[in-house]
Amino acid sequence: MTDSSKKESSLVVLQKLKSAGYEAYFAGGSVRDMLLNREPKDYDIATNAKPDDVEKMFKKTVLVGKQFGVVKVIHEGCEVEVTTFRSEGPYVDGRRPSSVSFVSAKEDVSRRDFTVNGLLYDPVKDEVLDFVGGKKDIKDKLIRCIGNPEERFEEDKLRMMRAVRFAVQLDFKIESDTFNAVKKLSGSIIVVSWERIQDEFRKILAYKNRTNGVKLLVECGLLRYILPELLETKGVQQPPEFHPEGDVWTHTLLTLEKLNSYDFDVSLGALLHDIGKPRAFAMRNGKMTYYKHEHIGEEIAESICKRLKLSNDETESVKYIVRNHLRFKDVKNMKVSKLKRFLQEKLFDRLKLAAIADTLASNGNMEFFEFIDDFVKKQSSEELKPNPFITGNDLIGLGLKPGPVFSKILDEVYDKQLEGKVKTREQALSYLKKFIP
Ligand code: ATP
Ligand code: MG
Repeated sequence: MTDSSKKESSLVVLQKLKSAGYEAYFAGGSVRDMLLNREPKDYDIATNAKPDDVEKMFKKTVLVGKQFGVVKVIHEGCEVEVTTFRSEGPYVDGRRPSSVSFVSAKEDVSRRDFTVNGLLYDPVKDEVLDFVGGKKDIKDKLIRCIGNPEERFEEDKLRMMRAVRFAVQLDFKIESDTFNAVKKLSGSIIVVSWERIQDEFRKILAYKNRTNGVKLLVECGLLRYILPELLETKGVQQPPEFHPEGDVWTHTLLTLEKLNSYDFDVSLGALLHDIGKPRAFAMRNGKMTYYKHEHIGEEIAESICKRLKLSNDETESVKYIVRNHLRFKDVKNMKVSKLKRFLQEKLFDRLKLAAIADTLASNGNMEFFEFIDDFVKKQSSEELKPNPFITGNDLIGLGLKPGPVFSKILDEVYDKQLEGKVKTREQALSYLKKFIP
């Protein structure tokens, strides 16, 4: 679905609502993005039509949350979210409203989170309705709560994460009363489900400005509750000959800045790659050491992924990056078979992205990556990852009994194949003879 067809569909739905005599506006992110000359993600509609009316008017609808007044209209394959103007009753547990009631456009806007998200746009009249001072805040690049910031964050604590997220996404500042309210209430973020926190954190790490996002999370106090381990890296010294940039914290942020990937697992892996260093730090013979920090780090990373409720795949990837980020320094000394096996690992490419960022954020010595690129360039993909000449069936055919020894034999023969010492299946079969009693 193209962005223009999304916009077209939303326009058609909006116009139909209007010609039936209802009020209807584009609301929320799309108005903000249009004023910023950015491409909106989607064009949500706010209207005084009730969910039942909306359902009756359109052929294909999905009721998302009747009690919240949200109906999805499917128009020519595009989903358009239509929300009835609503106000929200008192919040329970700082997470969700106890009830909603249907109200005027002006009242609807006042339940929204930030002024920049509180604008309404009438595309027919080409008119922006601004009840909350959103236009000025867009001009001044400010994220400001609608109404009293402390009250708004007390209602829904996730809004604190959202404030940071929008600041990062739009490259705006958080207005000082709003910022101070986050600072004051940051500890209460823990009442929010980790899935929702993860969702906002994931977004923060997906914007260009993400390094500032992490800094902002520290400044407003939220990082202490969602990733306290990262704060332990502050002030952990490193030998200046390897790390001219400074302590582990500085290095970590710089790594994120240098990272050439916006995938969440790679970003989080880069952010956590040295998370084991604070606990591993020890002075030995007058030298700073971080013995086994990659293993300690892997364990810490695992508990962080669990806390953030990451999927198994993403957890595996983050752990792999943390555990293996030091391996590149050995590539020149690896046997060809070992190097090829390393290159064959499923997550190698993701690890390499993080490891390159790690290097660029310290001494900048790229020789190991150049060595690998050079090595790969000189081989065909068949040479890098050949199908094994021999399988377990061959071993059975030779009368060997299946058991743990099988994989040892197969590994050995495959290593010979990777090294080019065994070039054909016949050679592989004759190599096997030494294993037959
Ligand atoms: P994006 O472009 O990233 O989707 P958005 O502004 O559309 O940004 P959404 O999370 O999609 O953000 O929410 C749509 C609108 O609903 C927001 O602009 C805001 O007006 C309102 N909103 C969403 N979540 C909240 C919340 N937790 N509290 C108050 N208002 C909210
Ligand atoms: Mg949106």
